[in-house]
Amino acid sequence: MNIAIDGPGGSGKSTIAKILAKELHIAYLDTGAMYRAIAYYALEKGADVADEKTILPLLDDMNMEVWEENGVQQVSVNGINTTPYIRENRISMAASTVSKIPAVRIKLVELQRQIAQKTDCVLDGRDIGSYVLPNADHKFYMTADSRVRAQRRHDELLKKGQDIPVETLLEEIEKRDHQDKTRSFAPLVVCEDAVVVDTTNMTIEEVAKFIMGIICK
Ligand code: C5P
Repeated sequence: MNIAIDGPGGSGKSTIAKILAKELHIAYLDTGAMYRAIAYYALEKGADVADEKTILPLLDDMNMEVWEENGVQQVSVNGINTTPYIRENRISMAASTVSKIPAVRIKLVELQRQIAQKTDCVLDGRDIGSYVLPNADHKFYMTADSRVRAQRRHDELLKKGQDIPVETLLEEIEKRDHQDKTRSFAPLVVCEDAVVVDTTNMTIEEVAKFIMGIICK
């Protein structure tokens, strides 16, 4: 079984995906972490995430591994475990920018499809239902008002010691949404066959119950 959850940042995808994976005893694949890992690796190598010419040579000998450790997904690139660094706020926009490059997406989509074929899992991302797994058993599109999403991101980062004003995060979220929705290759779209869940005024429990109700119908 494969469950696709797409939607913009801060809509609650990863929180819900983790709950579903636990309740359904299946794996969880956070595909955003894979784009974040490439962005982190590229920045470490001094590459410009907006410049395809500096990214393409890195892809040739890039080996990404994804595994789970104590219930937390880990992503390594060429043996470097990127997991401790990819949640830094600077990586969010870098990941969105590098993910516009088709060769980056093709490389990661191949790995995502391999994992989904071998394992029952819930995947969250931007293009899972539309491009990675168009035949997924269930497709959801989660969204929420951008100000609510910025506030959620603020609270999340604060817990990790990063105090970034909500207004700054709102601006970044809207810029990233725009970039993700308007890129030419596999943009963020609402699939015709996806169930749209607006989480603006819903608690995590309500969203989980609603989605579980559809899956277990
Ligand atoms: O979900 P998360 O915020 O970790 O994703 C970071 C960025 O990676 C997104 O803004 C998006 O540009 C990119 N991404 C993508 N396709 C996916 C998952 C993430 O393009 N399936």
